[in-house]
Amino acid sequence: MSFDIIFKKRFVSLSIGNSLTDEILGNFTCKIAAGEWDSFISLGLIDKPDENLSDLANIILGHCFKTKIQATKISAYAEIVEKYGSETDTYVIRRTIIPPAKKRMNPEIADVYTTDSLKDLIFLEMLYAAEQNMHISRCKNCLKYFASAYSGADYCDRVNPEGKTCKWTGSKKTYASNIKADENLVLYEKIYQSLQYKRRRTTDAEMLEKLNFNIILLTKCRAKYKSGEHSADKFLEKIEEIKNRF
Ligand SMILES: [Zn+2]
Repeated sequence: MSFDIIFKKRFVSLSIGNSLTDEILGNFTCKIAAGEWDSFISLGLIDKPDENLSDLANIILGHCFKTKIQATKISAYAEIVEKYGSETDTYVIRRTIIPPAKKRMNPEIADVYTTDSLKDLIFLEMLYAAEQNMHISRCKNCLKYFASAYSGADYCDRVNPEGKTCKWTGSKKTYASNIKADENLVLYEKIYQSLQYKRRRTTDAEMLEKLNFNIILLTKCRAKYKSGEHSADKFLEKIEEIKNRF
């Protein structure tokens, strides 16, 4: 089935009839690389998973996006075309102006291609992703490729069977390992959690106010310690003092 691929700066859309799906530029190829075919199958773009396409997507992503430098991405892409492209891979581009979605926004210029092949989607998307110097890397949690709007993102937005994203899981892991590295913060965390526990249990208004006040004080001490305003000794002294109030 033929479909349109629409490139607009750092975004890409697939348009089939009336339906349109948007992604951050690079993410369609990342999905193919990860063997995530459901959306392509439900759009009618392919009948069944195609492992050869997954392999190709993995090769291109691995070859072109291990660098942060735009020119290196583009020359790596050229090497891929040389090796895996074919003479029939020529594309007719239509350039169109997309009217602003909201007032005060500017109209945007988009490049549109019509094709019936997911291989074309991979090649074109990777060309634009290299040209836009997109940051594409493997997620540190699920190890699948993802494109992100920010360079330096470590985790993707994929959702695991428990309904948690890699981003969520990753932030918990990072927090836990940061705490582990600092004994003082382990103690802080214990005191903080015990005050929170008391706060949840108390029915006494005066006690609740006292707890709220000291919890805020505690978080301020942590911020000052993290910023270097409090030394480790001063930090420990302050948080012990707060603990002893209860
Ligand atoms: Zn992930």
